[in-house]
Amino acid sequence: MWSDEKDTIVKLLEDSHEKYPRICPCCGKKTGHVFFYKHDENKYGSAWAWCSTCQEYSHSRFETPTWWRNNASFPLEILHGCPDTLDESCDEIDNWANILLDEDNKIQ
Ligand SMILES: [Zn+2]
Repeated sequence: MWSDEKDTIVKLLEDSHEKYPRICPCCGKKTGHVFFYKHDENKYGSAWAWCSTCQEYSHSRFETPTWWRNNASFPLEILHGCPDTLDESCDEIDNWANILLDEDNKIQ
């Protein structure tokens, strides 16, 4: 059962160069994921943080990390508050985030 949790799960959104999946701050399992949607060049976009195991999640307006780029496989039309559909593709989403983090590491 997905549960909208505000205070703890958002720690997954903290900008660090740690790979995904990350340790879930709610249940401690390594099944914490994030997804962002950047609206044009706005600094703020939509952000999801969730855990596949305990199904805590947060969906919020959030400053998109500089390294993030939108993934064409996940257009705005399929995105909604609950990350249930995102979770079905969590491996693909983690890979995408990790590729972008790697690229960003090379630039720095
Ligand atoms: Zn969890």
